[in-house]
Amino acid sequence: MATGNPLQRRGLLFVLSSPSGAGKTTISRMLLERDDGIQLSVSATTRPRREGEQDGRDYHFVTNDEFDRMVASGAFLEWAHVFGHRYGTLRTEVVRTIENGCDVLLDIDWQGTQQLKQVDPDIVRCFILPPSMEELERRLRARGTDSGDVIGQRMARAAAEISHWAEYDYVFINDDADHCLKLVHTVLKAERLKASRRIFLHDFVRSMIG
Ligand code: 5GP
Repeated sequence: MATGNPLQRRGLLFVLSSPSGAGKTTISRMLLERDDGIQLSVSATTRPRREGEQDGRDYHFVTNDEFDRMVASGAFLEWAHVFGHRYGTLRTEVVRTIENGCDVLLDIDWQGTQQLKQVDPDIVRCFILPPSMEELERRLRARGTDSGDVIGQRMARAAAEISHWAEYDYVFINDDADHCLKLVHTVLKAERLKASRRIFLHDFVRSMIG
């Protein structure tokens, strides 16, 4: 059996959760731009497309019936109700990326993170906190993509989402996106170096010391 490249490792599932408006989408985009070794898992959702969003890039936008069929056929690694809509991680998105030797970035909520942890206990869970609830609300309003009612609902949900922070492996406070990105990237790079993920190290070391 070939021993393979000693640096080769299993792809990892890197989860980023936060209440909406905490800067998770910005951090995700910057991380994907900066690092070729990680790709976004594009979720399916029944939520209507927002201005500027692209089908297949931001989400796979599907109808309720399509989502039902996908659930029934086992298409999802996890799925959850969030703000009255359904969101799910597609098995094919994750498997294809991992098989290509790439890590997967998952922008999912605490419910999805809990489910994914059951599927793969080796996932890396990161949570991004806003600097304050006032700042969170300001950012949501500045974003201007949702009506006042939806912002009210999202603020109400934010406290619930934040209450799950202790279920995560790493927690970041996003008071500066560049700084937060640097920390998130440092964690990703360190997690990649974990001996348990570098499956070829056993053979590599054995070939050195017998
Ligand atoms: P938004 O509608 O603002 O894009 O996303 C709302 C929330 O749904 C965010 O917290 C986001 O992380 C979460 N979300 C997006 N995709 C998925 C998914 O596939 N599964 C789960 N569980 N949550 C998701």
